[in-house]
Amino acid sequence: MTAEYTGESTNGGALTVIRNGRIVDPSAHRDDVGDLWIQDGHILDQGPAHSDKEAVVIDATNQIVLPGLIDMHVHLNEPGYEYRETIKTGALAAAAGGCTAIACMPDTNPALDHTETVHFVKAQAKEAAVRVYPIGAITMGRRGEQLTEIGHLFDAGVVGISDAGHPIENPAVLRRALEYARMFDLPVLVHCEDKQLSADGMMNEGRNSTRLGLKGIPTIAEETMVARDIKLAEWTGGRIHITHISTADSVELIRAGKARGVRVTTEVTPHHLVLTDEMLAGYDTSLKINPPLRTAHDVEALRAGLSDGTIDVIASDHTPRSIDEKNMEYQEALFGAIGLETMLAVIMTELVNQGHVSLSTALLAMTATPAHILGVEGGTLQPGKPADITILDPDRSWSVATDSFRSKSQNTPFGGYTLNGVVTHTIIGGKVLPWEENSKTT
Ligand SMILES: [Zn+2]
Repeated sequence: MTAEYTGESTNGGALTVIRNGRIVDPSAHRDDVGDLWIQDGHILDQGPAHSDKEAVVIDATNQIVLPGLIDMHVHLNEPGYEYRETIKTGALAAAAGGCTAIACMPDTNPALDHTETVHFVKAQAKEAAVRVYPIGAITMGRRGEQLTEIGHLFDAGVVGISDAGHPIENPAVLRRALEYARMFDLPVLVHCEDKQLSADGMMNEGRNSTRLGLKGIPTIAEETMVARDIKLAEWTGGRIHITHISTADSVELIRAGKARGVRVTTEVTPHHLVLTDEMLAGYDTSLKINPPLRTAHDVEALRAGLSDGTIDVIASDHTPRSIDEKNMEYQEALFGAIGLETMLAVIMTELVNQGHVSLSTALLAMTATPAHILGVEGGTLQPGKPADITILDPDRSWSVATDSFRSKSQNTPFGGYTLNGVVTHTIIGGKVLPWEENSKTT
């Protein structure tokens, strides 16, 4: 099942060639230096026989040409919380970070629990810089009780269903959601957290929470729900996608579920792959994230799970918060971190360049795999496919300045970091986006 693009998709037949780049397309096991031709918004298998004098030329010497990233876990906050982000500003942030498509969560106000709100998002998305795919709610108002009209939401164009940050506490509700969603081959995206175990925890439960005097969130708050939801997927035959896992044992549970043939996929965020609860010593609210940052042992297990394919996807979980919602006592501040504009550079700097994960594994997890899970086009540079392409200069570095984001919000855990990798071009349907990248370079 392939959903229709909501964004602009042609450049009026113009011919473009990206010259002399390192073309990396994990979907085709491709990694070589060459030219990539685009016409009518699609990728050609070779340049045209005639002269290329009329082609637009993009020089990609010493740059990496990759399929446009697809971030399948983004909170855009419109309608309802436009002071944090809008579909327009979130899409600009996505483009700046090298994404050509994003899927947006239904935790808006009203929630995306009805076809009218889905149609609203799709209408706004038509004007957005990147392709925006809505995810519908599993239950009305995301209250975990009454199922939405999943078939109607599917007809309206949702690419999955989720109650976003709300776990489905009642297993009978999740069972029925998996059964209905299976009829449309829709993935059910779940936030695994037992609220009675996490209670009013503020950070990972362990040595550091004791030292800092903050109430902890134990790893089992996540793992008991991961185990339960894998069993429900196994029993119903439905497709479950477990969002942003954070613990070593969650990786192990999913590895075992996959080995049994359960239709389970999962994702990890850049911050859970890089940061630990040690870093909370200064009570920095930009590190207050749910699920919480865990230990070095968990980080190592997440990296191993990504490398061996247990973890399918890297997603930002871009969660904008206003300055007022973060600039307060640690206990009072809201959870959440933005990530669209830093995801690719964080992964390059902290994982790929350090040898923890291969470039092709990292890119696959941000391109072809999320496309496959959501059933959307993109994530590949194969001939005939839409020309959704990102060009990255891997050798240029930039420092993360919170006031330079295209996002309306500034709540990044990576403020002040120096990152390698500058996105120089984001191309959607053959059209080069006209955003300014120069301000990011150091
Ligand atoms: Zn989220």
